[in-house]
Amino acid sequence: MSTDETPRHFIRAKIDADNASGKYGGRVVTRFPPEPNGYLHIGHAKALCINFGLAEEYDGRCHLRFDDTNPTKEEVEYVEAIKDDIRWLGFDWGEHLYFASDYFERMAEDARELIRRGKAYVDELSLDEMRAQRGTVTEAGTNSPYRDRPADESLALFEQMLTGGIAEGAATLRAKIDMADPNMKMRDPPFYRVMHASHHHVGDRWKAYPLYDYAHCLEDCYEGVTQSLCTLEFENNRELYDWYLAALGKEHRPEQTEFARLEMTHVMTSKRKLLALVQEGTVAGWDDPRMPTLAGLRRAGVRPEAIRAFIERVGVSKANSRVDYSLFEGMIRKDLEEVSPRVMGVVDPVELVLEDWPEGETDTFDLPHHPSEDMGSREVPFGRHLWIEREDVAVEPPKGWRRMAPGWEVRLVGAYFVTCTRVETDADGTITKVFATCDRDTRGGSAADGRKPKGTIHWVARDGAQPVEYRLYERLFAAEEPSTLGDDWRSGLNPESLVVSRGYVEPGFLDLPADARVQLRRMGYFWRDSGDSTEDGLVLNRIATLKDSWAKEETKAPKAEPARKAKQVASEPPPPPVEAVLTSAEEALLSAAHAAGADEDTARAFIVNDLRRALGDAPSTLPLEGRHLAEVIALLDADTISRAGAQTLLAALLEHGGEPGALVESLGLKQLGDTDALLAVIDEVLAAHPDEAARLRGGDKKLNGFFIGRVKAATGGKADPKVVVGLLTKRVSDT
Ligand code: ATP
Ligand code: MG
Repeated sequence: MSTDETPRHFIRAKIDADNASGKYGGRVVTRFPPEPNGYLHIGHAKALCINFGLAEEYDGRCHLRFDDTNPTKEEVEYVEAIKDDIRWLGFDWGEHLYFASDYFERMAEDARELIRRGKAYVDELSLDEMRAQRGTVTEAGTNSPYRDRPADESLALFEQMLTGGIAEGAATLRAKIDMADPNMKMRDPPFYRVMHASHHHVGDRWKAYPLYDYAHCLEDCYEGVTQSLCTLEFENNRELYDWYLAALGKEHRPEQTEFARLEMTHVMTSKRKLLALVQEGTVAGWDDPRMPTLAGLRRAGVRPEAIRAFIERVGVSKANSRVDYSLFEGMIRKDLEEVSPRVMGVVDPVELVLEDWPEGETDTFDLPHHPSEDMGSREVPFGRHLWIEREDVAVEPPKGWRRMAPGWEVRLVGAYFVTCTRVETDADGTITKVFATCDRDTRGGSAADGRKPKGTIHWVARDGAQPVEYRLYERLFAAEEPSTLGDDWRSGLNPESLVVSRGYVEPGFLDLPADARVQLRRMGYFWRDSGDSTEDGLVLNRIATLKDSWAKEETKAPKAEPARKAKQVASEPPPPPVEAVLTSAEEALLSAAHAAGADEDTARAFIVNDLRRALGDAPSTLPLEGRHLAEVIALLDADTISRAGAQTLLAALLEHGGEPGALVESLGLKQLGDTDALLAVIDEVLAAHPDEAARLRGGDKKLNGFFIGRVKAATGGKADPKVVVGLLTKRVSDT
């Protein structure tokens, strides 16, 4: 049974109503009916979660039924792959595995019954003729000349259709309904066609096969399915399904309910196009980690838990919509965050030589696997020769650089502070070797005198480093909606969906279980590729990056800029990116801040915008208490500090800790709200810029910004801009 907390959606409401009225005696039977003509994709996961999920919830059962009515398109490979994927996702059909083709005998008998009842006839019109006589939405169709042939004649012809006595295309069996019905599906639809093809499951027994619309409702009926749940495009079929069952006088009538398909940006789920990608060699197979198939996601390293949580989050609705792929990625990250040990790996290695570290001398560090979860620790060797990330070194560091550069001191994660002495480059300027000296007094990664290094970078000791082929996967489609590109859909492919790089991982990686997912600092979540990894050839797939590099430009946090220089005058933090998914640590901070009185949306905006910007990486513990965040927000709300002041305060709290109130004092962040003091400053500034002041008095409002800037500079950023504008306007109109 569902519980009080379960969100009520229309399907649950229907089941509850059926149970209350006793329609099916309290039984709930659902089914998942894939056509075995391709692999399951993320869209199917929604149908799986709904069907298997509801069956579980209501103590019912869910059948797995292969809808294999079309003999030419289906393959055994798909049947086995589909079963594997469903099991992997965590669902179980028990003994209820069925094939539509197992019912062909019963379906043929029901077809004969329809003929006998005067509700079906064998038509000898060609498909083209039939189409021409079908009419249009506004015009009725025309009855076939074969429509009123005697039942005996149809029965005899139908047997010939089934046994090979009639050529393909020469006859069909049609339902006798109404050629003027407004629902086109009801205009005498054909439901058996001649096909001299052998079937992967039942062999050469049949020369005519039932069509989907006829077969589908009978399958549900034969199996006693109560809730026939399908996607919206089958809405018009419902009337026809009901007609077949009524015409046959079936007692059991399944109830069909439609829901919206799952569609995502940057994802193509058409089986035909996915098959083309496989056949053309654009991807390595149906289970290529870039494919939106369950097999692909699984090989990429996504856990079934993440998929189920995502489907849950998307919910069930009747409105078609497209879900942002970033939401899915966010849920994948969130799932991995809690279960992935941290290890060090270098994707694009360059050698770092510690000049003052003796050749052959080694050190070992015992580093925890996870900063908050208890996952134990591992031994990490250290020595004179190390691998570091090429992109972590700059010959001429740009502004705001927080990694390695000549003359700078940085921390090697968990080990020592080192100072870069020189960098070797090749003719193209590519860095080929880096030299540094090591401060032995900083063992463990901190200095006794409390000095802070310029940044922190990861490393792997050369001796013992495991060579790795890193496969850096990205979205397969760069186009947001590849399905809208029509025949040109291949132009939407992302040429950089796979980048291969040769690097290293620390030796401790080999002690982890083969299916462990790990977080490599800054580089993302990885795991061992199940297909191509061998004893001595480690292949690691990137499951997800640590941050969303695809976020829309406007929601992307700018690169770390000192808060004091923030141009924004607004006192509101910008809204968080839509659907930003919080890590568990962020979630914990949010609820603590909320509990301490902060407005939830404001706190969320601070976490997503300011904290993430300040911390760069996605750390799993946040060096900030909820009540402190709440206090910062309260100080901002009270206009005690400015928005820029709040950012400075947060940065200080993250760096050194302390109490916000005291820090506001010691850092001098208090805004000047005091009118007299501010007026004095404004007067001074006006006097210092007589030309601009004259233009402002003349009504040139553009100069407000100029003066606000001067006043803020003169007060060390402490003037509240809103107050300044008010006073300035007043002052100018006064004189
Ligand atoms: P395609 O049209 O891409 O070949 P399909 O819908 O025909 O896919 P089936 O094997 O018939 O594939 O699908 C099995 C079940 O999964 C059906 O009940 C179908 O409604 C459902 N399903 C397929 N795609 C989606 C989707 N994107 N979202 C939700 N349910 C889906
Ligand atoms: Mg289908």
